[in-house]
Amino acid sequence: MAFKATILTLYPDMFPGPLGQSLSGRALEKGLWDIETSQIRDFAADKHRSVDDTPAGGGAGMVLRADILAKAIDAAAPVEDPRPRILMSPRGKPFTQAKAHQLAEGPGAVIVCGRFEGVDQRVIETRQLEEISIGDYILSGGEIGAITMLDAIVRLIPGVMGNMESADTESFETGLLEHPHYTRPAEFEGLTIPDVLTSGNHKKIHEWRLAEAERLTRERRSDLWYAYMADDDDVD
Ligand code: SAH
Repeated sequence: MAFKATILTLYPDMFPGPLGQSLSGRALEKGLWDIETSQIRDFAADKHRSVDDTPAGGGAGMVLRADILAKAIDAAAPVEDPRPRILMSPRGKPFTQAKAHQLAEGPGAVIVCGRFEGVDQRVIETRQLEEISIGDYILSGGEIGAITMLDAIVRLIPGVMGNMESADTESFETGLLEHPHYTRPAEFEGLTIPDVLTSGNHKKIHEWRLAEAERLTRERRSDLWYAYMADDDDVD
């Protein structure tokens, strides 16, 4: 069974959005993955179809109600549904390439997109939602986060990317940022391509790329660099 994403949202028209284009769009057409949306508002009980209410304890904004969201989750993913249930949340564990691989290997994901100030804590607990963040900044809703996450996941599904080799050397796959790229023309505004890359010496090219990847990682991402060094005793 292909990877299937079910998105719970107040804005279903945002999907598939950019995921309907390019690589992920072609894969969607081919049936290599699937996406469906569920409108949370359809589970509201009152005639105004309201889904939010004021925060207990006071303060600004509104909170998505636990009872309505729970109904939407139960309809989209009954208990026997094996897919992980994810809540997009700035308080969640940061999304990583490793997490993208883990999800791409599974049956799919049920993704709840928060809005307003967020969702009532009790639905997170009772429906065992795994909170995932896409970065240390605040978006106005979970939808763009879900799209970002799915874009990273879908390209890892077998058959989606033409050249799987390009995936192996990419930033974060090796624990390093990727080396710089060059292509024609040979000279651009007075700048040439490093000689080694046009030398045809594959060993030297590999060494240059690794050295550049290490230099960039050391300069830009000390967090990744320390993890890489701890992992690899050969690095001096
Ligand atoms: N009051 C919350 C932010 C709410 S933003 C707080 O301070 O933590 C509204 C919704 O947008 C959230 O419920 C979540 O679903 C989504 N969202 C915002 N920023 C996000 C991020 N960095 N990662 C994942 N989801 C995010």
